[in-house]
Amino acid sequence: MTDISTKLVHGGERRALPDAMPVSTPIYASATFTYDSMQEIDQVFGGEKQGFVYTRYGNPTIAALEEAVREVEEGATACAYATGMAAIHAALIACDLKSGSTVLASQDLYGATTSLLNNVFTSFGVKTVNIDFADLATVREKAREIKPQVIIVETISNPLLKVCDIKSCVEIARENGARLIVDNTFATPYLRQPLTLGADMVVHSATKYLGGHADAMGGLVISRDEMDSMALVTVMKLVGGVLGVWEAHEILRGLKTLAVRMDRQCENARALANYLKEHPRVARVHYPGLGALVSIELRDSTREAAFGFMDALKLCVLSTSLGDVFTSVLHPATASHRDLTPARRQELGIVDGLVRISVGIEKIDDIIADVEQALTTD
Ligand SMILES: *Cc1c(COP(=O)(O)O)cnc(C)c1O
Repeated sequence: MTDISTKLVHGGERRALPDAMPVSTPIYASATFTYDSMQEIDQVFGGEKQGFVYTRYGNPTIAALEEAVREVEEGATACAYATGMAAIHAALIACDLKSGSTVLASQDLYGATTSLLNNVFTSFGVKTVNIDFADLATVREKAREIKPQVIIVETISNPLLKVCDIKSCVEIARENGARLIVDNTFATPYLRQPLTLGADMVVHSATKYLGGHADAMGGLVISRDEMDSMALVTVMKLVGGVLGVWEAHEILRGLKTLAVRMDRQCENARALANYLKEHPRVARVHYPGLGALVSIELRDSTREAAFGFMDALKLCVLSTSLGDVFTSVLHPATASHRDLTPARRQELGIVDGLVRISVGIEKIDDIIADVEQALTTD
């Protein structure tokens, strides 16, 4: 007789999979996978047979997400990571950066990406030059001069929402033998598919729009070249920043409603931007005409005025993220751009009265009413 302590360990497990196909991918909360024979395990380890052996090397739930995102970004291969930053790190490593390599980066990149390049990669001998990608003539000139191995940009920049001319960046990259990485977090594949425009790799913080519900962190790299798969998987296996299976499930669920969320959020953002353009307390509205983010500069461009407006909001959430179903606001000067000197912030246009609004799926009238009452609060 098997003891209860043994039964507790093995009970119910490793039953044959049912004939019925689950319509949604189950959460394969299993660190490891077993086979009937050592020969099979040997074949899977050796790559002769497709299969899963250990979740740091791959997992069916994560694979379902990778396949879904690969398809919508129209890439050849995709790899998931624990966060957007882990994905960006993996993409940079997969481009084979090494001591002596140079990166040409947009000066408007997500703060942590800039720090990753300028602090971590610099200490391994990789040099990064940060410039304004709105000025393409200078970008072209700089690229010719420094012959970067990698060019890295964002489709829509944070928080001023500058739209990148990806086609021109592709041209500049090709002309100089560089690989182009595009952080497509703000646009999502629903609005832009950089690989179809010729970019080499796309990265995502899936924590934002792809997940969309502020309940899971994740990152993805999608490449147009199947050959990148090996390097991307190697970073996953050896650095180990693997996406959790629960998060993979949440993000895969989020993806299903990306189109309807984006339709609603973009429509709401357009209406909010139009309303704000007419508001006497708003000096400037940054809104690229598409997307679900709107940044505003208050006429009284002080930190006090920005905090006063934000604290007075009742519906919109004070949040350090974006891309969620609810409307949220962030103060870039004290959040994403906090570590910069005031002079550098000024140079970049991150003034104290700037507030970034990530527009949600609520009824637009309710969003506008909340913003209206907060703007008129003294
Ligand atoms: C949030 C974000 C990241 C980092 O993603 P995490 O999931 O927080 O690691 C990278 N790029 C952009 C544009 C982001 O908004």
